[in-house]
Amino acid sequence: MTGAGVSAESGVATFRDPGGLWEGRRPEEVATPEAFARDPHDVWRFYQHRRRALSACQPNAGHRALAALEKLAADFTLVTQNVDGLHRLAGSENVIELHGNIWIDRCSGANRPPGEPSCPERLLKPGDRGIDNPHCPVCGSMTRPGVVWFGEMLVPAVLEAADQAARSCQVMLVAGTSSVVQPAAGLSSLAAQHGAMVVEINPDHTPLSPLADLCLRGPSGVILPAIIEQMGQSQESH
Ligand code: NAD
Repeated sequence: MTGAGVSAESGVATFRDPGGLWEGRRPEEVATPEAFARDPHDVWRFYQHRRRALSACQPNAGHRALAALEKLAADFTLVTQNVDGLHRLAGSENVIELHGNIWIDRCSGANRPPGEPSCPERLLKPGDRGIDNPHCPVCGSMTRPGVVWFGEMLVPAVLEAADQAARSCQVMLVAGTSSVVQPAAGLSSLAAQHGAMVVEINPDHTPLSPLADLCLRGPSGVILPAIIEQMGQSQESH
């Protein structure tokens, strides 16, 4: 499982960085359904600014190591809280994006009659900001970024898939997360309860640290590649 820290070495600000993601804006001004209902264009200006900043960022050695691990391991699921799309860009395939993906334009459904099926989403290529005044081509409602906002529920099927992966894994690597945002933070305890070895990869202590079987202190861009290298060597020697 990964959080914002895994993208820090790609130049993406973490949530709690002083110069971070929400600089100059309070999250509830821009990342809530209420903010979107009040002023969708303001919310879109913020997200277009985020997309512009992200389009200059590339996956780092930590993202690449996780993509390599997926190929080495018999069964591997990457659960991420990140919305930046960098894991897929690095080559990870079995990715559960708990909080959505900033590169998705999704219909807000405001004009859609109740009971009508959802309109299709559009996944942009990183670097493509989409249109500036976005409306759904199917029903004409405004589109919104495909991320989970403050005060919104996670998509139940997405959370269920992450829950299932946590219950059934043998080892859970938890990299670059402060382990305070729920329900994501609860997944590591769930894995531990079901017998998994939990390994934290983070330069700092977090609420998960006392519960983890092992804490590897340092940047994920250094530690994750070192783990892959060790795995490669042990596979060669068998
Ligand atoms: P967080 O900002 O709360 O915590 C980041 C953690 O990463 C901290 O514990 C920090 O010590 C650690 N860290 C910093 N640099 C690191 C490095 N090089 N290697 C490993 N760890 C490092 O992040 P969170 O726990 O993911 O929660 C933030 C919330 O905000 C999430 O819900 C996420 O969706 C969202 N968010 C996403 C992004 C993104 O998509 N890249 C960025 C910021 C926030």
